[in-house]
Amino acid sequence: MRPLLILSVIAVCSAASIYAQPAAPRVPTEPLPPILLPWEADVHTKEVDNLPYPAHRVVGNVYYVGTAGYASFLITSDQGHILINPNFDDSVPLVQKNVEQLGFRFQDIKIILISHAHGDHCAGTARAKEFTGAQVMVMDRDVEVMENGGPKGTRVAFPPVKVGRILHDMDEVSLGGNRLVAHLTPGHTKGNTTYTMQAQEGGKSYNVVILGSAGVNDAHQLFDNKAYPDMLPDFVRTFELLKSLPCDIFLASHGKFYGLAGKYAKLGKAGPNPFIDPAGYRAHVTLMEQALYYKMDWVKRGN
Ligand SMILES: [Zn+2]
Repeated sequence: MRPLLILSVIAVCSAASIYAQPAAPRVPTEPLPPILLPWEADVHTKEVDNLPYPAHRVVGNVYYVGTAGYASFLITSDQGHILINPNFDDSVPLVQKNVEQLGFRFQDIKIILISHAHGDHCAGTARAKEFTGAQVMVMDRDVEVMENGGPKGTRVAFPPVKVGRILHDMDEVSLGGNRLVAHLTPGHTKGNTTYTMQAQEGGKSYNVVILGSAGVNDAHQLFDNKAYPDMLPDFVRTFELLKSLPCDIFLASHGKFYGLAGKYAKLGKAGPNPFIDPAGYRAHVTLMEQALYYKMDWVKRGN
């Protein structure tokens, strides 16, 4: 990932006015102001992001079981559980500990899902499968990477894993009364997946969105990318889809995307469930869309 030259910060609200219209997808042609994603100001290293983080209930039967920087979610039922994101290979013991601290058995995980085939979310899939015997389900366009273990011989390679069920856009993953819909939201990876489900709490039903990632790691890859020629049109379509999803509870593959630290601090205090955040979801999608176009523009200006 190349460092982005940050010149100034612009507010999320001004981004909303530019891109919130439900018009046909449009790639801006005018130069865009620089944008600073809140988390790009901090240095994120694996040493920090792979530290333990307290397990907690998000809503209903949806729990956070991830590390400090890599989000994992457990969706429980009396017929077994679904785990989204085992994270790095050496995150798996931390995820297991979190599952057990909540009073669930790691071995009761029957299905393992991933946000996308990048090591920080999926490298531990082989190990988590070995511990639990769970079935691994992956979106069609990320299956090859999972079964090859990423690009061999590179520092981002990881243990390969056999995919038990290949998912397609809008496929359902069902277990014990839970019904997740797998939305293909490509761009960040070819098979980047956003899961949606309903969760019940206090007699109410909530739309939960577990966003894969809407981020561009290296904007140079949007141009002349032989390995992924459709990256840009995929991102454009992904943003249209993300803007159309109803969302009450906003979750994502990194806690920083949905303001985990601030929301966790409010848990258990008076007031509504802090994870109910439809405005935060819309703001994040708007911000990421603007970041895509700004980063594109930045490359076009010769960076
Ligand atoms: Zn990623």
